[in-house]
Amino acid sequence: MHPDITEILYTEDEIANAISSIGRQITADYADKRLLLVSILKGSFIFAADLIRHIELDLAVDFIAVASYGAETKSSGVVRIIKDLEGPLESYDILLVEDIVDSGLTLNYLRKYLRSLNPKSVEIAALLVKEVKQETPVECKYVGFVCPDAFVVGYGLDYAERYRYLPYIGVLDPKVYS
Ligand code: 5GP
Repeated sequence: MHPDITEILYTEDEIANAISSIGRQITADYADKRLLLVSILKGSFIFAADLIRHIELDLAVDFIAVASYGAETKSSGVVRIIKDLEGPLESYDILLVEDIVDSGLTLNYLRKYLRSLNPKSVEIAALLVKEVKQETPVECKYVGFVCPDAFVVGYGLDYAERYRYLPYIGVLDPKVYS
């Protein structure tokens, strides 16, 4: 285990099992739809890459990026799109793929924004949802794990661009950021 991690919350195997189950549900739910999977950069890139290989559909993939926390562990409360989607969305059912939902601010903003572009539908797949009271609750159609209210890293999730490569998800030692 990495010395900056105080506890492993989800092992590589547990994550793989959760993703394979979400993939099966998506395959069934979107069988007769035109699915566009939108990965929110950068944190969800590993989740999205693994998830699409568990969906047995002819789906399309795109990426959207919003300004991140930077080297902070709390949301600034401001969401800014720094990389937008490419094409017209009217013919697609969109599935937004997010690494972790905390306050819900990012996803509520993005869902509203994407709906304004008139796709057929917008749903959310989140690998982790934090056990916190969200100011505006986010409805996630697919959730991997409900996780404790700690700052977690690994499996795509970073702190100041570090730890994304860890194959598991763990709690970052507060000593690293305090
Ligand atoms: P929200 O807008 O829901 O408060 O925050 C969502 C974004 O904040 C996530 O996409 C992620 O980038 C970041 N975030 C929230 N909690 C954590 C966490 O525990 N660890 C990491 N690495 N990022 C987090």
